[in-house]
Amino acid sequence: MEATLVNCLAQKDEVLVIDGGKFGERWGKLAAAFGLIPHIYEVEWGKSADPTEVERMLKAHPQIKAVLFQASETSTGVFHPVKEIAEVVKKNSDALVVVDAITALGVCDLPMDKWGLDAVISGSQKAFMLPPGLAFLALSPKAQEARKRSNIPHFYYSLKAEDKAALNGETAWTPAVSLICGLDLVLKNMQTAGLPAIFSYHHRLAEATRKGLIGMGLELFAKGCPGDSVTSVWVPSAIPEGKKIISSMRDDFGITIAGGQDQYKGKIFRVAHLGWFDELDMISVLGALEITLKKLGHPLELGKGVGQAAQSFLESKHHG
Ligand SMILES: *Cc1c(COP(=O)(O)O)cnc(C)c1O
Repeated sequence: MEATLVNCLAQKDEVLVIDGGKFGERWGKLAAAFGLIPHIYEVEWGKSADPTEVERMLKAHPQIKAVLFQASETSTGVFHPVKEIAEVVKKNSDALVVVDAITALGVCDLPMDKWGLDAVISGSQKAFMLPPGLAFLALSPKAQEARKRSNIPHFYYSLKAEDKAALNGETAWTPAVSLICGLDLVLKNMQTAGLPAIFSYHHRLAEATRKGLIGMGLELFAKGCPGDSVTSVWVPSAIPEGKKIISSMRDDFGITIAGGQDQYKGKIFRVAHLGWFDELDMISVLGALEITLKKLGHPLELGKGVGQAAQSFLESKHHG
């Protein structure tokens, strides 16, 4: 994210930040840290961004040089409409379309060239199923051209240095060799499986998880498009301390789920299903969650959520 800003933008450039959660907020902080002028489109947490509002803000601020947003806002579990946002940006301005796809790439379709995305960013630790430590950045020809205007100080995140080193088949600095070896294997496996199968696999896990959670009498947090990377749900009213759900899952079952962030700490929790997960993982998580919720005071009929998830798996097509 930082490399994109420091290489493709110039100091005092105006940017539009779509802020629908913790990671949208981070775009705003990053932009400010590097002397850019962010215009913030605040999206209510849980909602997807509205392309009409993006259009309105682009018209109000014709100097905007880039639109920064998430494909998948991990803090809320919501997908933003990437294709539609890219369309209104192209129609109304020359701004770069910069997509943090860190929990979207490898989960849902993001055809960069077809949709006119100028920068697509991801990392090793989410759908690529590796430890943290690698970040990926793809730039369109337009974003490559924009690099010529760049005057933001940087050193390690220098694409110029990387380009130069790449001429000799090298990297500018010492790379995380072990992770790159891991990535090589992951990408081969992903290529063998095929992208459509990977996307429908994630959708299948996400659908079953959503149905399972609803089956337990929980309410999904997403009001916008619920993403296939992570599902966020409200802590049920019978459980006053939402954080207990997270710690009980960890202590009793060794299962990690995530809580809410900021104002939603203790109010929502999040279940991931991107990358190295399968049907049995989701059934296990949901089963453990039923026991945990019941133990903490949420009235539910054991097996109901797991049953809904199992039914969903039975009905949806398996792609291996
Ligand atoms: C995980 C993630 C990042 C990277 O955050 P780190 O704190 O560096 O792990 C950025 N954007 C999104 C949407 C993410 O989910």
